[in-house]
Amino acid sequence: MTRVYNFSAGPAMMPEAVLSRAREEMLDWQGSGMSVMEMSHRGKEFMSIASKAESDLRELLGIPTGYKVLFLQGGASAQFAMVPMNLLRGKGKADYINTGQWSKKAIAEARRYCEVNIAATAEAGKFTSIPARDTWQTDPDAAYLHYTPNETIGGVEFHWIPETGGVPLVADMSSTLLSRPLDVSRYGVIYAGAQKNIGPAGLTVVIVREDLMGEVLPGAPTLFDYQVMADNGSMYNTPPTYSWYLAGLVFEWLKGQGGLQAMAEINRRKAGKLYDLIDASDFYQNPVDPQCRSWMNVPFTLADADLDATFLEQAKAAGLLTLKGHRSVGGMRASIYNAMPEEGVDALVSFMKDFEQRHG
Ligand SMILES: *Cc1c(COP(=O)(O)O)cnc(C)c1O
Repeated sequence: MTRVYNFSAGPAMMPEAVLSRAREEMLDWQGSGMSVMEMSHRGKEFMSIASKAESDLRELLGIPTGYKVLFLQGGASAQFAMVPMNLLRGKGKADYINTGQWSKKAIAEARRYCEVNIAATAEAGKFTSIPARDTWQTDPDAAYLHYTPNETIGGVEFHWIPETGGVPLVADMSSTLLSRPLDVSRYGVIYAGAQKNIGPAGLTVVIVREDLMGEVLPGAPTLFDYQVMADNGSMYNTPPTYSWYLAGLVFEWLKGQGGLQAMAEINRRKAGKLYDLIDASDFYQNPVDPQCRSWMNVPFTLADADLDATFLEQAKAAGLLTLKGHRSVGGMRASIYNAMPEEGVDALVSFMKDFEQRHG
């Protein structure tokens, strides 16, 4: 068996230790005589798996009391609708910050439910920077302010939390949650599709401040009501049990790595190695303002785009997969979430140096 270094933006690599543990437990979870995917979600075995996953996540992120953790389906894309449905609470407008492709998707969906005020946009600069906070045209009467702390496609990341003066702050953290410690108390809602930095696809983690629930838009589907899902322990209907279990194994693994402070140090170092190489070379380029470069997704281009196919082919032969950039931006992109070992980044860096020597 050979495992490659997979730089996919999502679904992305899982920690090998987690996959091995899942394999060991596949046919008979801890003497239950069945696989986790065959268990009743209401049985005591799965209930213990579910609550352990939640308590480990709470411990990792230091989630304060007064916040519910929901394990939902529908991906971050369903949250683009659930956020306005739940948070408008009688108001007709919300603020959005536009820093790239995922912001735009969130904005387009919100427009189905309310008036969207684009408080700031980086579109004029092709989404290579983040507008300074003091240029934002926020509305003090907005129901909430939504932003995308890490733009997975453009590789643009906030390394600070916006101040909103009491307006609930909502964040699509799909590609950055768990990459570093986080002050959850600054947020109204945090959501993330699991398939980047949490676990397998099919699970969406939502962290919601309790006082923001309970006033869902009339006519919204029952399953889209945060309050209903919270009251039912995310089990109003059958939850994505196996993904929930694997996410729990990832949370345990993260605790074993030393928690999010330790992950932050590793992630900063991993990203730094790639950006240092790119900046030191005339052959590779990253267009993002160094102040807001992502630790998780590193897009780069080659000086000669005609070499793209050769680069990808030779990288693949070297066991470095899925480096092709998003179709909307072209070039390359290395996604280096928690589960990408530092050795994988080292292997990519030496491949890139070698490629430059041969073709630069
Ligand atoms: C991947 C991603 C999404 C879409 O997630 P789905 O789970 O496919 O709906 C949304 N936002 C960000 C920031 C992402 O990285």
